[in-house]
Amino acid sequence: MNEGPAAHSPLAVAPELLNALRAATRIVALTGAGVSAESGVPTFRDAQTGLWARYRAEDLATPEAFARDPALVWDWYAWRRELVARAAPNPAHHALAALETRCAEFTLITQNVDGLHRRAGSRRLIELHGDLFRTCCSRERRVVECWKATEQRPPACPRCGAPLRPDVVWFGETLPQDALASAFELSGGCDVFLCVGTSALVQPAASLPLAALQAGALVVEINLDETALSPHARFTLRGPAGVLLPMLLAAAWPSARN
Ligand code: NAD
Repeated sequence: MNEGPAAHSPLAVAPELLNALRAATRIVALTGAGVSAESGVPTFRDAQTGLWARYRAEDLATPEAFARDPALVWDWYAWRRELVARAAPNPAHHALAALETRCAEFTLITQNVDGLHRRAGSRRLIELHGDLFRTCCSRERRVVECWKATEQRPPACPRCGAPLRPDVVWFGETLPQDALASAFELSGGCDVFLCVGTSALVQPAASLPLAALQAGALVVEINLDETALSPHARFTLRGPAGVLLPMLLAAAWPSARN
């Protein structure tokens, strides 16, 4: 753990951090792909495997890729859905769901589209980048629940005939405005902000911890590696989220079942 400039062992959880967690009435956690890595869901920086090894994930998750080759992008998302459907929430997802029950106002903001937070039991949840398991019309952005089964990939929207697409936010697209406005409001009004498993590079989500910092919140980073946020965080816990988050909860609430 790094408290200010001095680094400590992750096991030596500072009393200041534990007291702040216990005293906080409003906690916000922001998660990224790293929180699901221990469930076996690759981050975009992990090399792709199998059929997809010759593509970069960042080059498939764009409107340009879908315009160029909609079947390729549709198939990649079908593969990702299968991968996530086989995965299970890990101790980091469970710890964040437990934290919701420890704090008067806890909100989890995720950039992930895998649904694992919901499956772990988190309810006060803002999914900034959409949901891998939802499909929408590429022209109208309306959610579509059923469509005619044909060989066509992607299938056609039953209303307007445009190709269907996953209801996720691709690089270069704007985020759902209501979700983003709530995320900024909550981040700017919280006592403690936890930034977990995100490279803190993808905007506008990367600005949420900065909004919390500016408003005087205690910002804690949990990540395997140093990020752009690290120098600004009050505490940085270095290591796997699936180990550190349960450890943090157990240290803050030793008599509770976390
Ligand atoms: P990222 O891939 O840019 O960064 C992942 C971060 O997690 C890195 O900083 C890495 O050091 C850290 N990390 C990896 N394993 C970790 C672990 N076990 N414990 C703690 N930290 C760990 O991810 P991002 O910041 O979320 O941004 C990439 C974009 O990709 C997001 O928009 C996200 O929607 C999307 N994405 C989502 C998923 C998913 O839904 N599971 C998967 C891949 C990418």
